[in-house]
Amino acid sequence: MKAIQAHEHGDIGVLKLEEVADLQPGEGQVVVAVKAAGVNPVDTYIRAGINNYSALFPHCPGKDAAGVIASVGKGVTRFKEGDRVYCAGTLTGASAEQTLCNENQVQPLPHSISFEQGACLGVPYTTAWRALFIRAHAKASETVLVHGASGGVGLAAVQLARAAGLRVIGTASTDVGRDLVLANGAHHVLDHNDPDHLQEAIALTGGNGVNLILEMLANVNLGHDLPALAKGGRVVIIGSRGPVEINPRDTMARDAAILGMALANATPDELRCIHASLVAGLENGSLTPVVNKAFPLAQMGLAHEAVLEAGACGNIVVSVP
Ligand code: NAP
Repeated sequence: MKAIQAHEHGDIGVLKLEEVADLQPGEGQVVVAVKAAGVNPVDTYIRAGINNYSALFPHCPGKDAAGVIASVGKGVTRFKEGDRVYCAGTLTGASAEQTLCNENQVQPLPHSISFEQGACLGVPYTTAWRALFIRAHAKASETVLVHGASGGVGLAAVQLARAAGLRVIGTASTDVGRDLVLANGAHHVLDHNDPDHLQEAIALTGGNGVNLILEMLANVNLGHDLPALAKGGRVVIIGSRGPVEINPRDTMARDAAILGMALANATPDELRCIHASLVAGLENGSLTPVVNKAFPLAQMGLAHEAVLEAGACGNIVVSVP
């Protein structure tokens, strides 16, 4: 089978399409014939060996995929050959014609969701769900500011929060991104490059401040986020690309909390709960992943560049012929 392989850390030039051995499932494992693989910012950090990430070589990038079960190992009970599935994590990498997964890394993919959309579910939706409901304990009627709502995690958060009865304010830097955020369920949209946008967010709450902020770029925003919180407000740090200065006093009068969030810390129990909820949301139509661009598998390098470009409008995927 064909797979993207990197043999060292580096720029996109290290990503090569190569012929590798077909995969066989062991006990409790499945092999998925991949139709599409998701591309997330973390894949570029692992490829480059930055932000405390590294890879074992040869490295096949990607944690997210969607496709069809090709074979099942002994003891697998939830799937059979031919089932449509999405993968949230794999054992061998997603950017290949086949990927090997533990049974619990794979979930059923409803027929209403395309393979390209299915490839957007793992990292973005699991992250958004865990940030909202496990770290921040989001409740219906609260107001959430999704600070960076036009990308993969942000749009997932907008859809999840809207379906859960929160009031949703999203941000994006482009007109097309802002339109997309509104179309995906935000009640209001702001421009995070406008220096007054957090004042506008506070005004949208009648001056009380927002209950939650899901923060995609904490190194730029955290110091400004804190004064925009309501009493008891929480900021969940999902993305950050450097240090930032805050005034701790901004947390005190509000009883505010700054919460870190790493998807890698999700427990098996949390993941079971998250995916049961995601599959229900896909089935009832409240969750619809947004594919921005699909590249052919052989152009994985271009996909790694695209996922870091400004002006996000949903997810980047690669299609596997
Ligand atoms: P993405 O698809 O590339 O989206 C990036 C988002 O950040 C876009 O909405 C972008 O908006 C927005 N953004 C850019 N400048 C901003 C600013 N000044 N203020 C607020 N938002 C800004 O990436 P993603 O997949 O959604 O991931 C978002 C971040 O979370 C990345 O840094 C990623 O590495 C991280 N992440 C962390 C975890 C974890 O476990 N903690 C899991 C997944 C992702 P415009 O393009 O419209 O400007």
